[in-house]
Amino acid sequence: MRKMISAHSHLLTKPENLEFFADKFSQIWLLGLPTSLKIPGYSRPAGEEEILAVAKQFPGLYFPFKWIDYRLGPDQVDRAVEQGFIGFKGIAPWRSYDDESYLPIYERLAKYHCPMVFHTGYVATPSYANCSPDFCYQAGNMRPASLYTLARYFPEITFVAAHFGVPWEHELLDLEIRLLPNLYIDLSGGHVNEILKIVEENAHREAILSDGTTGIFADKFLLGLDAYFGHAQLHREVYEYCCEFAEELEKRAAKNPVWKDHISGILAGNAERIMKENQLL
Ligand SMILES: [Zn+2]
Repeated sequence: MRKMISAHSHLLTKPENLEFFADKFSQIWLLGLPTSLKIPGYSRPAGEEEILAVAKQFPGLYFPFKWIDYRLGPDQVDRAVEQGFIGFKGIAPWRSYDDESYLPIYERLAKYHCPMVFHTGYVATPSYANCSPDFCYQAGNMRPASLYTLARYFPEITFVAAHFGVPWEHELLDLEIRLLPNLYIDLSGGHVNEILKIVEENAHREAILSDGTTGIFADKFLLGLDAYFGHAQLHREVYEYCCEFAEELEKRAAKNPVWKDHISGILAGNAERIMKENQLL
């Protein structure tokens, strides 16, 4: 069986059947979301207590990431670290991620060396009518270029741009974020074919890794599912999708001698490196 880490997963409230993944993934990063969010067909995202409880129940498997509430100050970071969160998640702020008013939050993250995963690109249902005080659907606030600014300003923080920034993947490529040691990219999201195509065209390019050494872009890619965990009937489907995605990656990599041996890194090793370098394992 492949070794896999899902560096982008969410948890439903009142979760069940989570042991299903115990022999299938070596790590699952549970990224918090505002509990006000409605998920069509399902319940709501789990709150912070539920995420922490799952991480405690399955130590070394589920890892808790707190959703940053940009309406609050940097103290939320202190509290979260004390409670046991090991990383953070950004999504749907009312200002751009790199807005000056948010810098104190990142300063606090830098103090703890906590990684942060950012949704980049579109969000489903992009309408102001669906916005709430804690969730703004304006995709322009979640452009990958904002992470370029932040990653340069805060070299102590590991930044992850989720979904390859689609539809702004070229922003990531043109800014040559592959040369920023502390910036990674997760391959989750609904635009699977676009993402696979970008990976295929760019995985072999030179990149600077977090320890300052030179590697290739493939060493910066993370497997992610962006799926909800916690309902038994969803789990098999989620796992099958993940295996199909991994197979497709392997198939495309097989054609390229430069990155064909880096697949295990994309599936698990790169995420593991982030955890180790931030002393979270
Ligand atoms: Zn997500």
